Amino acid sequence: DAAMYYAKNSGSGLHVYEKGLDANETPERLALTAELRQGISAGQLEVYVQPQASLHTGQVLGVEALVRWRHPRHGLLFPDTFIPLAERNGLIPQLTDAVLEQAVAACGRWRRAGHRLTVSVNLSARSNLNENLIASVQQLLTRHGVPARALTLEITESSVIRDPARTRIVLDRLHDLGVGLSIDDFGTGYSSLSYLRQLPVQEVKIDKSFVMNMLAEASDAAIVRSIVDLGTNLDLTVVAEGVEDAATWAELERLGCTNMQGFYLAAPMPLAVFTDWLAAREG
Ligand code: C2E
Ligand code: CA
Ligand code: CA
Ligand code: CA
Repeated sequence: DAAMYYAKNSGSGLHVYEKGLDANETPERLALTAELRQGISAGQLEVYVQPQASLHTGQVLGVEALVRWRHPRHGLLFPDTFIPLAERNGLIPQLTDAVLEQAVAACGRWRRAGHRLTVSVNLSARSNLNENLIASVQQLLTRHGVPARALTLEITESSVIRDPARTRIVLDRLHDLGVGLSIDDFGTGYSSLSYLRQLPVQEVKIDKSFVMNMLAEASDAAIVRSIVDLGTNLDLTVVAEGVEDAATWAELERLGCTNMQGFYLAAPMPLAVFTDWLAAREG
């Protein structure tokens, strides 16, 4: 139980560790972890959104939800500084719930305002792909009046590798609900192809490390081209992330890639800013 404490003697004196925490964390990280746990309850996580558009028409189709932590002293923290901590210390379920809640609520508001947008939420490799997730997603969609097809969950290949059989059962149930499934960071993991056959996914996202260099590096261009061809042949939506300029956009469109996300369209922004951005873009 997370509320139980035990003491451990270390070279620098007596430190109190929370049971369930990673004992290898430094004292600074343990303190930050405790702050994160409190911060999640106190509503300090903020969802930023980055728009996704059709490469062909430029139409905005949806957004990806990207978490930020509004830390009372350190200011706005990016996920790279706290997601790994959350993963090592059992905080991913709470974090995912907070992000899902804000993302689905916002999606409901947009749709009631007449924007048929989708929202994509990242599941960590350590997300609890279990009954609780299915129940909370279902309840959330009902509560905010959002159709399941408007929500996409992004998973990485590492989450699949951890427990393929169990993952498959949970993903099948989410698919039955109508929720979209996307493989994130595609091309960076292993055995990508077999997962595409076995899992009920509708989308792959080409990792930005390939997209950002595709005009300069022939090998990156070759990888992008193969993923686009594979996705097209399997009837999947192929999203290129990390599109930073018009030339990359044009090349991706030429290759037959369907959707894009990247700084060229817009950087991640707070929910309130997105509403104005969308209004300005739609004129
Ligand atoms: P990701 O899912 O691959 O998200 C894309 C990252 O690329 C985002 O970084 C985004 O800001 C950045 N990006 C987007 N377009 C461009 C571009 O054109 N150029 C460049 N250089 N970068 C671009 P961010 O927001 O810092 O998120 C980093 C990672 O943290 C995410 O990578 C994702 O793995 C994780 N993450 C973010 N939010 C969540 C969350 O709610 N839950 C979980 N479990 N992980 C999250
Ligand atoms: Ca993602
Ligand atoms: Ca990604
Ligand atoms: Ca990534």
